Amino acid sequence: MGNNIVQITVNQAKLSIVQGDITRQATDTIVNAANSGLMGGGGVDGAIHRAGGPAILEECKQIVARQGRLPTGQAVMTTGGNLKAKYVIHTVGPVWGGGGKDEAALLASAYRESLKLAAANKLASVSFPSISTGVYGYPVDQAARVALETIILFLRESVTTVKEVVMVLFDSRTFDVYSEALREMVGEEG
Ligand code: ADP
Repeated sequence: MGNNIVQITVNQAKLSIVQGDITRQATDTIVNAANSGLMGGGGVDGAIHRAGGPAILEECKQIVARQGRLPTGQAVMTTGGNLKAKYVIHTVGPVWGGGGKDEAALLASAYRESLKLAAANKLASVSFPSISTGVYGYPVDQAARVALETIILFLRESVTTVKEVVMVLFDSRTFDVYSEALREMVGEEG
């Protein structure tokens, strides 16, 4: 520990883990851990809407009017408004219900669908927060493995424009858990 950045290379793409505030990231897009109504809220969702301004909520409302609530595990994209990131990808992670409610598959889907949407829009760099581990209660150690495995698999198996993925962890405990999970996964592959 003690480092504040951990990084690996997968298929010529860079995956890094940093501690920080995702609203300040300068990647092409940042991902929002939204809820199905796309109306903003607390946690990282509130922070993104506050920093990005009303243009984000305006587009979210149009999306919901057009296609209804966003199902868990799916993703949509809006402007980044006043953010450094040009776009925000809104995805909905699962609420933790003990582990027997398909949470891992739904969390993996949230990461994968966000990455697919970034690639479909020819974006090169994506930042993620730790989806579902705040108010939604997903245990951080389990969420970290799902997140990192899904990102690594995507970078390895997809022909994609995405060349940089950053996991931006807000607090030092979450940062430490993700860093340790990545070290273990890289170690396991030898
Ligand atoms: P969820 O409802 O998906 O659990 P939360 O926003 O409650 O989403 O929490 C997800 C994670 O985002 C938590 O680890 C929380 O500490 C973190 N978080 C909160 N604000 C920010 C921010 N500005 N940048 C990055 N991560 C943040």
